[in-house]
Amino acid sequence: MKIMVAVKRVVDYAVKIRVKPDKTGVETTNVKMSMNPFCEIALEEALRIRESGLAKEVVAVSVGPAQCTDTLRTALAMGADRAVHVDAGMAHVQPLSVAKILRALVQAEQPGLLILGKQAIDDDCNQTGQMVAGLLQWPQGTFASKVVLDKEKQKATVEREVDGGIETICLDLPAVITTDLRLNQPRYATLPNIMKAKSKVIKKVTPEELNVELRPEIEIIQVTEPPKRKAGVILSSVDELIDKLKNEARVL
Ligand code: AMP
Repeated sequence: MKIMVAVKRVVDYAVKIRVKPDKTGVETTNVKMSMNPFCEIALEEALRIRESGLAKEVVAVSVGPAQCTDTLRTALAMGADRAVHVDAGMAHVQPLSVAKILRALVQAEQPGLLILGKQAIDDDCNQTGQMVAGLLQWPQGTFASKVVLDKEKQKATVEREVDGGIETICLDLPAVITTDLRLNQPRYATLPNIMKAKSKVIKKVTPEELNVELRPEIEIIQVTEPPKRKAGVILSSVDELIDKLKNEARVL
């Protein structure tokens, strides 16, 4: 079985986000970019499945500008066998377009499993996995916190963290899985593997070659910063705290 993993290049989680002065989005020039953390977890899970002998190949896919090849090199250094870059230039590719691109790649590559992050930390959409499952008419296990594959029966058992507990579902393969934070702890790429990944070939395709038109479905009207938090105060007694909670915050 082949596993395809979608890895998105996003602003690094540790970077303090700055909104552009014209409020059209967030600043990405001269900002550290990395693989979306949920995609690292998706890739780690695919690698563990391959290492357990249940899959033969892991193919990483990224959609976006030329710099996505850096993200794919990280994926190769972590252990992916192959990488595909869908070069969308500088266009902002929205979830439905990414889902259509992934559908086209799935139809070409025929993986038994497509694993994505549950959400990208830049747009927080949490849509792509669900959309591609819908387009492919494949079952989906979203927010997976445990995945167990049964190769004989061609089934995946997925545990999902839901309000009030863990839901366990069973999916027929091929299927789409999206990863939650607690699924695994992604590995670091070792220096020798980073060096080896530099010489690996990354296949490049365009959305046009996959017959996908990058049509934005959502218009971003504006992006604003959250309101600044007021500085805290140190109170001298519990009585003063109760007074403030009653008379200022009015929560008691
Ligand atoms: P989103 O629906 O935008 O929150 O993204 C959810 C997941 O879809 C991400 O964690 C990725 O696995 C995948 N994804 C979204 N956009 C891209 C992209 N441009 N390239 C590769 N994968 C993507």
